[in-house]
Amino acid sequence: MAVRAPSRHFRVEPIAPGVYAAIATPTGYGLCNAGIIDLGGTTVVFDAMLTPMAGADLARAAERLTGRRPTWIVNSHWHGDHIWGNSAFAGGHVVSSGRVRTEVLRRSRRQFRDCRRDFPAELDRLDGPDSRVAVADRPRVRGWFRGVLETPRPLRIVPPELTFEDALVLTGTRRSLHLITYGGGHSPSDVFGYLPDERIVLTGDLVMVGLHPSVGDGWPDRWERILARIEGLRPDRIVPGHGPTASGRWIHAERTYLGDLLNVARGAIRRHESLREAVRAPIPTRYRAWGFAFMFPENVARAFRLLGPRTRAGLR
Ligand SMILES: [Zn+2]
Repeated sequence: MAVRAPSRHFRVEPIAPGVYAAIATPTGYGLCNAGIIDLGGTTVVFDAMLTPMAGADLARAAERLTGRRPTWIVNSHWHGDHIWGNSAFAGGHVVSSGRVRTEVLRRSRRQFRDCRRDFPAELDRLDGPDSRVAVADRPRVRGWFRGVLETPRPLRIVPPELTFEDALVLTGTRRSLHLITYGGGHSPSDVFGYLPDERIVLTGDLVMVGLHPSVGDGWPDRWERILARIEGLRPDRIVPGHGPTASGRWIHAERTYLGDLLNVARGAIRRHESLREAVRAPIPTRYRAWGFAFMFPENVARAFRLLGPRTRAGLR
């Protein structure tokens, strides 16, 4: 069931009483999914989306659904598509791990500048004969590029102001939201949200449903271990960083992908292939229907570099 949402950037899906997933629309400027959680007395938004435009709609949707403005805005990790909407939440407080704050301060401004520089040419190439992006993925990628390019300047980067080391529990009169990090898998620090009573996990980019994950800024072996621990929480339902909501079983599919990715890289190393040869590996059959296939060569490259002889220590 979908709740009518006055936004072109996402649709709202109730997943438990007082708990909603905001699922990014393919053509909107949200790109990542978000969660809206009524704790009872306070409201939390989990991830702020790609743009202040989507963030503003998210703030309005949270107010409409819960009767109050969000007090807490959680950032699952430092990537721009999860934090550039932060500035739209007037009066809200951004919360994440200390490491996420460090990465936002260190890298976010440059990431935005690089995207603004590169996206006009990439947008031109998107429908060209050499496009690496499958036709089915193009609306989403176009929304991503356009969202960044149409963001009014200057973009105010709002880093987390409340930080924690391993876990933080936000408690209201109705429920508690556990914010947990098991370290970095997809990025240097990944925070996920856990609602123990409802057995719901808001995964950030630790899980994407029906899409190749983005491994380029991560460590696939550590990521696998993080997912195994999250599986141990036995979630019934997940709100992924990208893609539709799904049963907790999807975590296993993501974990299997990462294991298969490492095996593809190990095979290439065993055959003494160069990086250029390794990234030509075919996508394993069971992931052929997944979107964002253009990620696969980059993911193989990351695993290959981490497993390669010179940087073997980096994988420990
Ligand atoms: Zn990410």
